[in-house]
Amino acid sequence: MAQPTLNNQRMNQNENQSSIISRREFLKLVVPAGVIIGIGGSIYVLSEDKVFLRPPGAVSEVRFLSLCIKCRKCEEICPQTTIETVSITEDVAGSGSPKLNFRVGACDFCMECVEVCPTGALEMM
Ligand code: SF4
Ligand code: SF4
Repeated sequence: MAQPTLNNQRMNQNENQSSIISRREFLKLVVPAGVIIGIGGSIYVLSEDKVFLRPPGAVSEVRFLSLCIKCRKCEEICPQTTIETVSITEDVAGSGSPKLNFRVGACDFCMECVEVCPTGALEMM
């Protein structure tokens, strides 16, 4: 079998180095882009100040978002179908939580949603 010449060895070495450099260059581009996208996403989430009309008895918004487990029991029981779910396009942090939509139905304050809420996100007034 033919032995690799010195020239061939150098050429292989150069090819390896150029692929290492291109990987490094790739990482130099991709890692900061990922960080920027990540930070941008966080800023987007933190800066969003969406306000939704919550079902009756909802505690303060910050507490509500920490208590609501997005079980949708309130939505399922509402006899007026006034409650619907916040979509991810409306609000990332609050998606899945309940909101009132008076275009669909009018709330008659039956308080059935409060009664089924398992976490206290909705409290009897
Ligand atoms: S109080 Fe009754 S009508 Fe109003 S949102 Fe709750 S379940 Fe629906
Ligand atoms: S029943 Fe309570 S915990 Fe469940 S989605 Fe409605 S508000 Fe959130």
